Amino acid sequence: MALVDLPRPDIEAGLESAHRAYEEFAARGLSLDITRGKPGSDQLDLSADLLTAVTAENYRAPDGTDTRNYGGLDGLLELREMFGELFSVPASQLLAQGNSSLTLMSQALVFASLFGTADEDSVPWASGPRRILCPVPGYDRHFGLAEALGFELVTVPQDDEGPDMDAVRALTAEDPSVKGIWIVPMYSNPTGITVSEARAKELLDLETAAPDFRILWDNAYGLHHLREPHAALLDILGLAAASSRPDRVWMFASTSKITLPGAGVAFFAASPRDTDWFRKHLSPTSIGPDKVNQLRHLHFFGTPDGVRAHMEKHAALVLPKFEAVERILAEELGDLGIATWTAPNGGYFITLTVLPGTADRVVKLAAEAGVKLTPAGATHPYGLDPDNAVIRIAPTMPSLDEVEQAARGLAACVRLAAHEALLA
Ligand code: PLP
Repeated sequence: MALVDLPRPDIEAGLESAHRAYEEFAARGLSLDITRGKPGSDQLDLSADLLTAVTAENYRAPDGTDTRNYGGLDGLLELREMFGELFSVPASQLLAQGNSSLTLMSQALVFASLFGTADEDSVPWASGPRRILCPVPGYDRHFGLAEALGFELVTVPQDDEGPDMDAVRALTAEDPSVKGIWIVPMYSNPTGITVSEARAKELLDLETAAPDFRILWDNAYGLHHLREPHAALLDILGLAAASSRPDRVWMFASTSKITLPGAGVAFFAASPRDTDWFRKHLSPTSIGPDKVNQLRHLHFFGTPDGVRAHMEKHAALVLPKFEAVERILAEELGDLGIATWTAPNGGYFITLTVLPGTADRVVKLAAEAGVKLTPAGATHPYGLDPDNAVIRIAPTMPSLDEVEQAARGLAACVRLAAHEALLA
């Protein structure tokens, strides 16, 4: 029977056993960290050969470019072709840049804020109030970046297919200060949902008061399948081109969680017009990206299939950790009715939803017992989850054994916090 339906004396009895389980776990004095979506060192080892993939003998790109020198603002053509195929983007509309897609998101927002977009009627976004829609639960750094650049963050609920379009319509129809929406279209951070084609088309067709409204389409996990059925990567720029708003999408991606997060390659893509716009504003800031690193990636993968095969190796390392969390949460919490959790087919996160009002208590209990979790609320604008219920679990970085221990301890915290809340 669900815990919430039990008579009070039974919950009181349960509290004692929940306490005991928690104290036993805490007494082990562990130090575990499931806070951030970083690859494990075994995953980084998969890219060991990347570090030596360019030498004094092979520093020229296939078209003869000496990658050691200045120039080539768009990035290496052959790498753009490779990732263009993987992300369904023509190479001419894909720019390969430095190591961080977040930096490219920041640049796009800064350019729009200072200069306006390429739309005829666009004025610099920073010349007035500006808002950005944030589907929740979402990625804390998206929210933090927009906030740092002066955007007001506006929460939008989402379901398994993407943002709630009634809410999006209500917020964008009359308010020209709503300039964009964050979207993680595949295996979203942190819920693991994938935006459906129907929902993507609704976003493209949306009538907005802002003439220069943009979808910030962050394909961070577009190649990160863990198990079948794989989600399908949408040809979002093709869909945009076929819609009445061909310039509505700015797409971002990177190899951060494909090769090395500190030394990968990030990508920007958009319509031909908006790609020109981005390049125009990028041009004064750089003579060109790190082409040596781009060539390393080209040599390392060889072909798009080389990337796909590499991602299967990641999945083989990561999937057992996801399965362990799912199995342990089911064993410990399955029939109590005090938590639900996602079981995504790709990406980097599991979202755990606990009894409303208890997420911050769970995080605190876990910290005191040696399990570090992302702060409760981090998945929402301004760090405020109104239900205080969502916890993001990132199982990739610790070892499998550590993930199992952390999940067991986390479950003990969820149980204890739920008992406390129901008896309060
Ligand atoms: N976008 C999403 C949705 C992420 O989850 C992350 C990292 O966790 C990033 C972007 C960071 O990307 P990058 O390393 O390319 O800056």
